[in-house]
Amino acid sequence: MIKAIQRTLERVVVGDSIPSLVRWGQAMPRGLVRRLQQDAFGEVVRYAASRQRFFARKLAEKGIDAGRVRRPEDLGDIFTTPEDLLNLPAEEFLCRAPKAVFETTGTSGAPKRVYFGYDELHRSARHEAAALYKNGVRPGDRAVCTFDGGYWISGWVTFLACRMLGVFCSAIGKPQPRELYNRMPQYRYNVVVADPTWLVSFSEIAQKDGTYPLKVIMAAGDRMTDVYRRYVQEVWGAPLVLGYGSTEAGGGVGMECERQEGYHLDEYDFLFEIVDPDPQGYGELVMTTLTRRTQPFIRYRMRDVTRFVPQPCACGVTLSRIEPVRGRRDEMVVMGAGNMHPEIFERVLHDVGDISSHWQVAVRQQGLRDVLEFRLELTNGVGPENVEQNVRRNLEARFPEVWANHLCGMYELAFRYLPLSTLGSGRKARRLVDERSA
Ligand SMILES: [Zn+2]
Repeated sequence: MIKAIQRTLERVVVGDSIPSLVRWGQAMPRGLVRRLQQDAFGEVVRYAASRQRFFARKLAEKGIDAGRVRRPEDLGDIFTTPEDLLNLPAEEFLCRAPKAVFETTGTSGAPKRVYFGYDELHRSARHEAAALYKNGVRPGDRAVCTFDGGYWISGWVTFLACRMLGVFCSAIGKPQPRELYNRMPQYRYNVVVADPTWLVSFSEIAQKDGTYPLKVIMAAGDRMTDVYRRYVQEVWGAPLVLGYGSTEAGGGVGMECERQEGYHLDEYDFLFEIVDPDPQGYGELVMTTLTRRTQPFIRYRMRDVTRFVPQPCACGVTLSRIEPVRGRRDEMVVMGAGNMHPEIFERVLHDVGDISSHWQVAVRQQGLRDVLEFRLELTNGVGPENVEQNVRRNLEARFPEVWANHLCGMYELAFRYLPLSTLGSGRKARRLVDERSA
């Protein structure tokens, strides 16, 4: 019954019209979204049970009958992990002949491979198109996408999304920022889609040599701090909205709306869970692909730590939101201060002043106590008193529960200063390290 309603809605009410899809995202009651998800979850579980070797084996090991599975919890501790994807051949996961493959490289160097059908890429693009539309992108706009090429998926999905919106689009891989800057007047781009760090370099050129009128900037891929976001927005005088996704998810699974208060999730194509949440609700994000049939993922552990935003969004969209990702689960350190993530220290340190942007926080052990050591580079040659005072003040104001544990004596604070350019930068540099002996 629910399924029949959904099909009718999709065909008659929404069709391929992106504006209708956005209106629908605002009109759909939460209860109905959940019913549709539950229905689709049972269906994909039964589908994968009969066609996916990996999942069928997991079910058999645990003695679970797929026909009885209604909710994710019914699967107990059955998950699909990035390691499964890396270590097992593609045939373990494929349920039908694929039409496309994309890769994503983790820290280990070996790529994870994810296969799709054209219909699945189309669905992915439809939701990205809806998110772009919600953020003001309209036919007649001119978009440029500089997501990396090669085996990456994101540029293709953005290109297809622009096609659906009737928007001029160049998906050009990742050029030197200057190369694109020089072409801005010729192609009159007013929508830029790019990685955060690339955008910062691009904006530095524009700050020096002049900007062009942009309507909206969309960023996804690596981390964008509040400082970077403010900088890019100020240079261009345009809003910067963030997207969240991965190759496994087939591109984006969530995008901010104009309020910039968390990612609205694509709950028509995915079911999300937060597993092992801490008392504040932060835990690992887990997704099940509800509509993919080439290589469906049942409870895929995304390794990113976040939490659901409980309140409905003021923009009117009824799709749930998650907060910006706190960090990778493998970057999390459990200690006397609580569950620590690099993002916590980013928010404590970004406006402290007199320190370089390179830093590291280490958790050490001294006697029976944890020590949280800030390793910083002083930039102005004056003493560190102000720096330490500001770190303490920010920690207390922004993370009161972390500060409270300090006052209780559950850990000590320490500071160490290193010569400039000692601490590495870039994605591989570890910002939070656990140096306690096991
Ligand atoms: Zn919203």
